[in-house]
Amino acid sequence: MILKRKYSIKIILFTLFFMLAFNNFVKDNIVFGTQNISQVSTQISKEKVTTHILNLDNENTTIGQEYYKSDRILQLLKVIFSFLIPIVILFTGFSAKLRDLSSNIGKNLFLTAGIYGVLYNLIDSVLNFPLRYYGGYLQSHIFGLSHQPFISWLKNYSISLIMSSIEIFLVLFIPYVFIKKSPKKWWIYTGVITIPITLIMYLAQPIFIDPLFNEFKPVENKQVENSLMELTKKAKIENCKILKVNKSKETSMINAYMTGIGSSKRIVLWDTAIDKLNIRELNFVMAHEIGHYVLRHNKKFIFIDILITFIVLYIINALAPSIIYKFKKNFKFTSLSNVASFPLIILILNFCFLFITPSLNAYSCYIERQADTFAIEITKDNEAAVSSFEKLSKNGIVIEKPDTLYRIWTYDHPPIKDRITFFKTYAPWQKGEKLKYNKYINEKK
Ligand SMILES: [Zn+2]
Repeated sequence: MILKRKYSIKIILFTLFFMLAFNNFVKDNIVFGTQNISQVSTQISKEKVTTHILNLDNENTTIGQEYYKSDRILQLLKVIFSFLIPIVILFTGFSAKLRDLSSNIGKNLFLTAGIYGVLYNLIDSVLNFPLRYYGGYLQSHIFGLSHQPFISWLKNYSISLIMSSIEIFLVLFIPYVFIKKSPKKWWIYTGVITIPITLIMYLAQPIFIDPLFNEFKPVENKQVENSLMELTKKAKIENCKILKVNKSKETSMINAYMTGIGSSKRIVLWDTAIDKLNIRELNFVMAHEIGHYVLRHNKKFIFIDILITFIVLYIINALAPSIIYKFKKNFKFTSLSNVASFPLIILILNFCFLFITPSLNAYSCYIERQADTFAIEITKDNEAAVSSFEKLSKNGIVIEKPDTLYRIWTYDHPPIKDRITFFKTYAPWQKGEKLKYNKYINEKK
């Protein structure tokens, strides 16, 4: 009874959301967007903590509006495809056929699940290729945000595909082992085992995964290095690793980010930032990243990541059996323990992220404001804050007045204009007020 009620509430919410989105789309060509909701949650969080400082902003309103129009459609298509692909694979009985093929080759559960997962990932990548090509390559070239050669983009795309296939191959059997052993509590066991996997992913990402795509080096410029070291001393984190990544061969956009946990924790500056910002501006950008570092934002994101995993697994456990029961004739399998149910898991996961993404984005904007506040307080350099962000927006795209749906589903950072306004006005020390993050700042030289 409870299950049924929950299920119908979700359907109503889902229908309402789509009516709203579609209505807006028809009326005013307004589209909402999501952040790669077809990806697994660890990847989503990684995205959150690594796309720092700036997404896209610019002073050129016309280009901004053109970009906005194109991106709204892209984001809507991404959402539609994230539902359409698993639905088609399930309802045509193709998933059952794929399972038969996998079990013929694999024989045991580990190999059957692994082979099924890899095949599904490949099919999904082929079907999504036009969208990923547009979103990951063409769009940024059309709007002058990237000059990455196609071959280099394709190489990165292939590496991502290989890495995600390896990940799926290694872990997909885990939920199925638990579903078979304990059909009611499998989601708890699966959730528990994803904790160490999530931690390993966070730890390994900067050391083993990121270098597959770009070259990471120490900051070679002595003047810059000394100035950044001074700043880390002031923030009492002298052991902090600072690296430079060669992004100038791909883009002229400016960025920096903090990544990793424990021994893999590091701040990474794009070489474009080092080239285009002066020392004071670079210090401010770095101070923002140090803000993430000292306020332990990565740890908070890992906690949220794990929490979301449990919630989503619970929802899958609550919804999937009744959906399979209802459509077993179309699906050509009868139980969640069948590996062919994987697209249904993906479907429910994507459905959940449609609703989780706005909250994740809101939280991300909240911690970005914290890092901005910290950066102003430690540098007390409002002027450099403003000029650095003006440079960031000149090298990106400014979207004037995005609609609410687009904003809540795609903005994981506050709009640049709001941040610049904050930088111009926030100076508590001038009024003799106590700094919010005083305890993290060492004022002694
Ligand atoms: Zn940030």
